[in-house]
Amino acid sequence: MLIVMHHKATDEDIQRVKDTIERIGYRPVVIPGAERTAIGVIGNQGWVDDSPFQELPGIREVIHVTKPYKLVSRDFHPEDTVVRVAEGIEIGSGRDFTVIAGPCAVESREQMLRVGQALSEMGIRLLRGGAFKPRTSPHSFQGLREEGLKILAEVKASTGMRVVTEVMNPEHVEEVAAVADILQIGARNMQNYDLLIEVGRAKKPVLLKRGIAATLEEWLASAEYILVQGTEEVVLCERGIRTYERATRNTADLSVIPLVKEFSHLPVIFDPSHATGKRSLVRPMALASVMAGADGVMIEVHPEPDRALSDAGQSIDLQSFREIYQALKRLWEFKREITISTC
Ligand code: PEP
Ligand code: MN
Repeated sequence: MLIVMHHKATDEDIQRVKDTIERIGYRPVVIPGAERTAIGVIGNQGWVDDSPFQELPGIREVIHVTKPYKLVSRDFHPEDTVVRVAEGIEIGSGRDFTVIAGPCAVESREQMLRVGQALSEMGIRLLRGGAFKPRTSPHSFQGLREEGLKILAEVKASTGMRVVTEVMNPEHVEEVAAVADILQIGARNMQNYDLLIEVGRAKKPVLLKRGIAATLEEWLASAEYILVQGTEEVVLCERGIRTYERATRNTADLSVIPLVKEFSHLPVIFDPSHATGKRSLVRPMALASVMAGADGVMIEVHPEPDRALSDAGQSIDLQSFREIYQALKRLWEFKREITISTC
Protein backbone atom coordinates (compact mmCIF):
# COMPACT_ATOMS: atom_id res chain seq x y z
CA MET A 1 0.00 0.00 0.00
CA LEU A 2 1.19 3.50 -0.80
CA ILE A 3 -0.03 6.55 1.09
CA VAL A 4 0.32 9.80 -0.83
CA MET A 5 0.36 12.91 1.36
CA HIS A 6 -1.09 16.34 0.50
CA HIS A 7 1.44 18.94 -0.58
CA LYS A 8 0.40 20.89 2.52
CA ALA A 9 0.84 17.94 4.90
CA THR A 10 2.89 18.83 7.97
CA ASP A 11 5.73 16.85 9.52
CA GLU A 12 3.28 15.89 12.29
CA ASP A 13 0.85 14.49 9.70
CA ILE A 14 3.63 12.40 8.17
CA GLN A 15 4.79 11.20 11.57
CA ARG A 16 1.23 10.22 12.54
CA VAL A 17 0.91 8.08 9.39
CA LYS A 18 4.28 6.43 10.10
CA ASP A 19 3.23 5.69 13.68
CA THR A 20 -0.05 4.19 12.50
CA ILE A 21 1.73 1.93 9.99
CA GLU A 22 3.99 0.66 12.78
CA ARG A 23 1.06 0.26 15.17
CA ILE A 24 -0.67 -2.14 12.78
CA GLY A 25 2.52 -4.17 12.40
CA TYR A 26 4.16 -2.92 9.20
CA ARG A 27 7.15 -0.76 8.31
CA PRO A 28 6.82 2.74 6.81
CA VAL A 29 9.18 3.85 4.07
CA VAL A 30 9.09 7.59 3.36
CA ILE A 31 9.51 8.52 -0.30
CA PRO A 32 10.08 12.30 -0.52
CA GLY A 33 8.97 14.03 -3.75
CA ALA A 34 9.31 17.50 -5.23
CA GLU A 35 5.57 18.21 -4.74
CA ARG A 36 4.52 15.81 -2.05
CA THR A 37 5.67 12.95 0.14
CA ALA A 38 4.53 9.37 -0.27
CA ILE A 39 4.83 6.66 2.38
CA GLY A 40 5.15 3.02 1.38
CA VAL A 41 3.82 0.24 3.63
CA ILE A 42 6.25 -2.65 3.76
CA GLY A 43 6.06 -6.13 5.26
CA ASN A 44 2.49 -7.10 4.43
CA GLN A 45 1.72 -10.57 3.02
CA GLY A 46 -1.56 -9.59 1.49
CA TRP A 47 -4.27 -6.93 1.53
CA VAL A 48 -3.79 -4.11 4.07
CA ASP A 49 -6.93 -2.70 5.67
CA ASP A 50 -6.89 1.06 5.01
CA SER A 51 -9.47 2.02 7.66
CA PRO A 52 -6.87 3.18 10.28
CA PHE A 53 -5.80 5.84 7.75
CA GLN A 54 -9.19 7.07 6.64
CA GLU A 55 -9.54 9.89 9.17
CA LEU A 56 -5.91 10.92 9.47
CA PRO A 57 -5.19 14.50 8.37
CA GLY A 58 -2.84 15.31 5.49
CA ILE A 59 -3.54 12.21 3.37
CA ARG A 60 -4.41 12.79 -0.29
CA GLU A 61 -4.77 9.22 -1.52
CA VAL A 62 -4.33 5.62 -0.40
CA ILE A 63 -3.25 3.33 -3.23
CA HIS A 64 -3.54 -0.42 -2.83
CA VAL A 65 -0.73 -2.22 -4.55
CA THR A 66 -1.72 -5.66 -3.32
CA LYS A 67 -5.08 -7.01 -4.48
CA PRO A 68 -7.72 -8.12 -1.93
CA TYR A 69 -7.27 -11.66 -3.25
CA LYS A 70 -4.30 -13.91 -3.66
CA LEU A 71 -5.32 -17.56 -4.02
CA VAL A 72 -7.56 -16.77 -7.02
CA SER A 73 -4.93 -14.70 -8.79
CA ARG A 74 -2.90 -15.85 -11.74
CA ASP A 75 0.27 -14.46 -10.18
CA PHE A 76 -0.12 -16.97 -7.39
CA HIS A 77 -1.31 -19.85 -9.60
CA PRO A 78 -0.31 -19.43 -13.25
CA GLU A 79 -1.99 -22.56 -14.70
CA ASP A 80 -5.71 -22.68 -15.47
CA THR A 81 -7.79 -24.45 -12.85
CA VAL A 82 -9.95 -27.24 -14.17
CA VAL A 83 -13.05 -27.92 -12.09
CA ARG A 84 -13.90 -31.63 -12.09
CA VAL A 85 -17.59 -32.11 -11.42
CA ALA A 86 -17.79 -35.82 -12.12
CA GLU A 87 -16.20 -38.47 -14.28
CA GLY A 88 -15.90 -36.90 -17.74
CA ILE A 89 -17.38 -33.54 -16.71
CA GLU A 90 -14.70 -30.89 -16.44
CA ILE A 91 -15.07 -27.13 -16.60
CA GLY A 92 -12.16 -25.04 -17.86
CA SER A 93 -10.03 -27.76 -19.43
CA GLY A 94 -10.21 -26.11 -22.84
CA ARG A 95 -11.26 -29.44 -24.36
CA ASP A 96 -15.02 -28.93 -24.11
CA PHE A 97 -17.41 -26.03 -23.92
CA THR A 98 -19.58 -26.54 -20.84
CA VAL A 99 -23.32 -26.12 -21.29
CA ILE A 100 -25.55 -26.01 -18.24
CA ALA A 101 -29.25 -25.89 -19.04
CA GLY A 102 -32.60 -26.13 -17.32
CA PRO A 103 -35.41 -24.00 -15.99
CA CYS A 104 -34.99 -21.03 -13.72
CA ALA A 105 -36.93 -22.80 -10.98
CA VAL A 106 -37.96 -26.34 -10.14
CA GLU A 107 -41.75 -26.05 -10.45
CA SER A 108 -42.98 -29.64 -10.45
CA ARG A 109 -41.86 -33.21 -10.82
CA GLU A 110 -43.41 -33.43 -14.30
CA GLN A 111 -41.69 -30.24 -15.51
CA MET A 112 -38.26 -31.38 -14.32
CA LEU A 113 -38.57 -34.94 -15.59
CA ARG A 114 -39.67 -33.64 -18.98
CA VAL A 115 -36.91 -31.07 -19.32
CA GLY A 116 -34.25 -33.33 -17.81
CA GLN A 117 -35.13 -36.20 -20.12
CA ALA A 118 -35.10 -33.99 -23.23
CA LEU A 119 -31.83 -32.24 -22.34
CA SER A 120 -30.15 -35.50 -21.44
CA GLU A 121 -31.12 -36.96 -24.83
CA MET A 122 -29.45 -33.98 -26.49
CA GLY A 123 -26.24 -34.79 -24.63
CA ILE A 124 -26.46 -32.15 -21.88
CA ARG A 125 -24.93 -33.43 -18.66
CA LEU A 126 -25.44 -30.50 -16.30
CA LEU A 127 -29.00 -29.65 -15.31
CA ARG A 128 -29.89 -26.41 -13.56
CA GLY A 129 -33.02 -25.56 -11.57
CA GLY A 130 -33.54 -23.49 -8.45
CA ALA A 131 -35.26 -25.08 -5.47
CA PHE A 132 -34.54 -22.04 -3.27
CA LYS A 133 -35.29 -18.94 -5.32
CA PRO A 134 -34.09 -15.42 -4.46
CA ARG A 135 -37.02 -13.31 -5.70
CA THR A 136 -37.18 -9.53 -5.71
CA SER A 137 -40.74 -9.59 -4.40
CA PRO A 138 -41.89 -11.75 -1.48
CA HIS A 139 -45.17 -12.16 -3.39
CA SER A 140 -43.46 -13.98 -6.27
CA PHE A 141 -42.98 -17.76 -6.44
CA GLN A 142 -40.25 -18.59 -3.91
CA GLY A 143 -39.34 -22.07 -5.14
CA LEU A 144 -40.37 -25.47 -3.83
CA ARG A 145 -37.44 -25.50 -1.42
CA GLU A 146 -36.94 -28.98 0.22
CA GLU A 147 -39.55 -30.48 -2.11
CA GLY A 148 -37.59 -29.04 -5.05
CA LEU A 149 -34.41 -30.74 -3.84
CA LYS A 150 -36.23 -34.09 -3.76
CA ILE A 151 -37.36 -33.57 -7.34
CA LEU A 152 -33.82 -32.70 -8.41
CA ALA A 153 -32.55 -35.86 -6.73
CA GLU A 154 -35.13 -37.92 -8.61
CA VAL A 155 -34.30 -36.40 -12.00
CA LYS A 156 -30.62 -36.86 -11.30
CA ALA A 157 -31.17 -40.55 -10.52
CA SER A 158 -33.35 -41.16 -13.55
CA THR A 159 -31.26 -39.28 -16.14
CA GLY A 160 -27.73 -39.55 -14.73
CA MET A 161 -27.40 -35.78 -15.13
CA ARG A 162 -25.45 -33.70 -12.64
CA VAL A 163 -27.22 -30.89 -10.84
CA VAL A 164 -26.49 -27.18 -10.40
CA THR A 165 -28.72 -25.49 -7.85
CA GLU A 166 -28.64 -22.37 -5.73
CA VAL A 167 -28.09 -22.21 -2.00
CA MET A 168 -29.18 -19.00 -0.29
CA ASN A 169 -28.63 -19.66 3.38
CA PRO A 170 -25.55 -20.97 5.23
CA GLU A 171 -27.83 -23.28 7.24
CA HIS A 172 -29.03 -24.98 4.06
CA VAL A 173 -25.61 -25.75 2.61
CA GLU A 174 -25.49 -29.31 3.91
CA GLU A 175 -28.90 -30.36 2.60
CA VAL A 176 -28.41 -28.62 -0.77
CA ALA A 177 -24.93 -30.15 -1.10
CA ALA A 178 -26.44 -33.60 -0.58
CA VAL A 179 -28.17 -33.22 -3.98
CA ALA A 180 -26.15 -30.59 -5.85
CA ASP A 181 -23.01 -31.40 -7.78
CA ILE A 182 -22.34 -27.69 -8.13
CA LEU A 183 -23.51 -25.24 -5.47
CA GLN A 184 -24.68 -22.00 -7.05
CA ILE A 185 -24.20 -18.69 -5.26
CA GLY A 186 -26.59 -16.21 -6.82
CA ALA A 187 -25.80 -12.62 -7.76
CA ARG A 188 -27.65 -11.28 -4.72
CA ASN A 189 -25.51 -13.36 -2.39
CA MET A 190 -22.11 -12.78 -3.96
CA GLN A 191 -21.11 -10.79 -0.91
CA ASN A 192 -22.83 -12.91 1.71
CA TYR A 193 -19.55 -13.82 3.34
CA ASP A 194 -20.94 -16.32 5.88
CA LEU A 195 -22.53 -18.20 2.99
CA LEU A 196 -19.28 -18.13 0.99
CA ILE A 197 -17.38 -19.57 3.95
CA GLU A 198 -19.96 -22.31 4.44
CA VAL A 199 -19.98 -23.38 0.76
CA GLY A 200 -16.18 -23.36 0.83
CA ARG A 201 -16.36 -25.86 3.68
CA ALA A 202 -18.70 -28.16 1.75
CA LYS A 203 -15.81 -29.22 -0.52
CA LYS A 204 -18.03 -29.24 -3.61
CA PRO A 205 -17.63 -27.26 -6.83
CA VAL A 206 -19.16 -23.79 -6.55
CA LEU A 207 -20.64 -21.59 -9.27
CA LEU A 208 -20.14 -18.01 -8.13
CA LYS A 209 -22.31 -15.53 -9.99
CA ARG A 210 -21.15 -11.95 -10.28
CA GLY A 211 -23.08 -9.53 -8.07
CA ILE A 212 -25.49 -7.11 -9.71
CA ALA A 213 -23.13 -4.16 -9.14
CA ALA A 214 -19.89 -5.92 -8.35
CA THR A 215 -16.55 -4.88 -9.75
CA LEU A 216 -14.22 -7.56 -11.01
CA GLU A 217 -12.08 -7.03 -7.93
CA GLU A 218 -15.03 -7.53 -5.55
CA TRP A 219 -16.10 -10.64 -7.44
CA LEU A 220 -12.63 -12.18 -7.23
CA ALA A 221 -12.36 -11.22 -3.56
CA SER A 222 -15.60 -13.16 -2.98
CA ALA A 223 -14.11 -16.18 -4.75
CA GLU A 224 -11.12 -15.81 -2.44
CA TYR A 225 -13.42 -16.42 0.56
CA ILE A 226 -14.26 -19.83 -0.88
CA LEU A 227 -10.67 -20.73 -1.79
CA VAL A 228 -9.45 -19.74 1.66
CA GLN A 229 -11.62 -22.61 3.00
CA GLY A 230 -9.62 -25.09 0.95
CA THR A 231 -11.86 -25.50 -2.11
CA GLU A 232 -10.24 -24.59 -5.40
CA GLU A 233 -13.23 -25.78 -7.39
CA VAL A 234 -14.83 -22.43 -8.16
CA VAL A 235 -16.38 -21.46 -11.48
CA LEU A 236 -17.12 -17.78 -12.02
CA CYS A 237 -20.30 -16.81 -13.87
CA GLU A 238 -20.84 -13.45 -15.55
CA ARG A 239 -24.60 -12.74 -15.55
CA GLY A 240 -24.79 -9.08 -16.48
CA ILE A 241 -24.48 -5.99 -14.34
CA ARG A 242 -26.84 -3.13 -13.50
CA THR A 243 -26.35 -0.03 -15.64
CA TYR A 244 -28.60 2.87 -16.72
CA GLU A 245 -29.80 0.81 -19.71
CA ARG A 246 -33.27 -0.61 -19.14
CA ALA A 247 -33.87 -2.05 -22.63
CA THR A 248 -32.23 -5.21 -21.34
CA ARG A 249 -32.66 -6.64 -17.85
CA ASN A 250 -28.92 -6.26 -17.21
CA THR A 251 -25.95 -5.20 -19.29
CA ALA A 252 -23.87 -8.15 -20.42
CA ASP A 253 -20.25 -7.45 -19.61
CA LEU A 254 -18.55 -9.72 -22.11
CA SER A 255 -15.25 -7.91 -21.79
CA VAL A 256 -14.93 -9.13 -18.21
CA ILE A 257 -14.56 -12.70 -19.50
CA PRO A 258 -11.10 -12.33 -21.10
CA LEU A 259 -10.18 -9.97 -18.27
CA VAL A 260 -11.00 -12.61 -15.63
CA LYS A 261 -8.66 -14.92 -17.53
CA GLU A 262 -5.87 -12.35 -17.20
CA PHE A 263 -6.34 -11.89 -13.47
CA SER A 264 -7.40 -15.35 -12.37
CA HIS A 265 -6.84 -19.03 -13.08
CA LEU A 266 -10.48 -19.91 -12.35
CA PRO A 267 -12.83 -20.96 -15.17
CA VAL A 268 -15.49 -18.48 -16.20
CA ILE A 269 -18.85 -19.13 -17.82
CA PHE A 270 -21.54 -16.79 -19.14
CA ASP A 271 -25.28 -16.67 -18.40
CA PRO A 272 -26.95 -15.02 -21.41
CA SER A 273 -30.41 -15.51 -19.89
CA HIS A 274 -30.00 -13.26 -16.84
CA ALA A 275 -27.49 -11.02 -18.63
CA THR A 276 -30.14 -9.95 -21.15
CA GLY A 277 -33.51 -10.97 -19.74
CA LYS A 278 -34.72 -11.43 -23.33
CA ARG A 279 -35.36 -14.69 -25.12
CA SER A 280 -34.31 -13.28 -28.50
CA LEU A 281 -30.89 -12.26 -27.19
CA VAL A 282 -29.90 -15.59 -25.68
CA ARG A 283 -28.55 -17.06 -28.91
CA PRO A 284 -26.41 -14.13 -30.15
CA MET A 285 -24.95 -13.45 -26.71
CA ALA A 286 -24.25 -17.12 -25.97
CA LEU A 287 -22.38 -17.34 -29.26
CA ALA A 288 -20.51 -14.11 -28.55
CA SER A 289 -19.33 -15.49 -25.21
CA VAL A 290 -17.57 -18.35 -26.99
CA MET A 291 -15.42 -15.86 -28.88
CA ALA A 292 -14.89 -13.81 -25.71
CA GLY A 293 -13.20 -16.86 -24.20
CA ALA A 294 -15.87 -18.27 -21.88
CA ASP A 295 -15.45 -21.86 -20.73
CA GLY A 296 -19.17 -22.42 -21.00
CA VAL A 297 -22.67 -21.04 -20.70
CA MET A 298 -25.66 -21.51 -18.44
CA ILE A 299 -28.99 -21.14 -20.24
CA GLU A 300 -32.56 -21.12 -18.90
CA VAL A 301 -34.69 -23.64 -20.78
CA HIS A 302 -38.32 -24.43 -20.01
CA PRO A 303 -40.64 -26.94 -21.69
CA GLU A 304 -43.33 -24.22 -21.83
CA PRO A 305 -41.44 -20.93 -21.40
CA ASP A 306 -44.51 -18.68 -21.38
CA ARG A 307 -45.85 -20.58 -18.39
CA ALA A 308 -42.61 -20.45 -16.38
CA LEU A 309 -43.20 -19.31 -12.80
CA SER A 310 -40.00 -17.24 -12.87
CA ASP A 311 -37.97 -15.59 -15.62
CA ALA A 312 -40.44 -16.51 -18.37
CA GLY A 313 -39.30 -13.68 -20.64
CA GLN A 314 -35.76 -14.99 -20.89
CA SER A 315 -36.54 -18.71 -20.91
CA ILE A 316 -36.31 -20.54 -24.19
CA ASP A 317 -38.08 -23.69 -25.36
CA LEU A 318 -36.41 -27.03 -25.95
CA GLN A 319 -36.33 -26.72 -29.73
CA SER A 320 -34.69 -23.28 -29.64
CA PHE A 321 -32.22 -24.61 -27.12
CA ARG A 322 -31.36 -27.56 -29.36
CA GLU A 323 -30.50 -25.15 -32.19
CA ILE A 324 -28.40 -22.92 -29.96
CA TYR A 325 -26.56 -25.93 -28.57
CA GLN A 326 -25.69 -27.15 -32.08
CA ALA A 327 -24.48 -23.68 -33.04
CA LEU A 328 -22.39 -23.41 -29.87
CA LYS A 329 -20.69 -26.71 -30.54
CA ARG A 330 -19.87 -25.71 -34.12
CA LEU A 331 -18.56 -22.31 -33.11
CA TRP A 332 -16.46 -23.83 -30.33
CA GLU A 333 -14.81 -26.22 -32.80
CA PHE A 334 -14.21 -23.36 -35.23
CA LYS A 335 -12.68 -21.24 -32.50
CA ARG A 336 -10.38 -24.07 -31.45
CA GLU A 337 -9.23 -24.47 -35.04
CA ILE A 338 -8.41 -20.81 -35.56
CA THR A 339 -6.75 -20.56 -32.15
CA ILE A 340 -4.53 -23.54 -32.91
CA SER A 341 -3.73 -22.36 -36.45
CA THR A 342 -2.88 -18.80 -35.39
CA CYS A 343 -0.77 -19.66 -32.35
C1 PEP B 1 -30.72 -17.88 -11.41
O1 PEP B 1 -29.69 -18.40 -11.88
O2 PEP B 1 -31.86 -18.31 -11.58
C2 PEP B 1 -30.56 -16.59 -10.68
C3 PEP B 1 -31.41 -16.25 -9.72
O3 PEP B 1 -29.56 -15.87 -11.14
P1 PEP B 1 -28.88 -14.52 -10.57
O4 PEP B 1 -28.44 -14.85 -9.19
O5 PEP B 1 -27.74 -14.30 -11.53
O6 PEP B 1 -29.91 -13.44 -10.64
MN1 MN C 1 -33.62 -17.21 -13.29
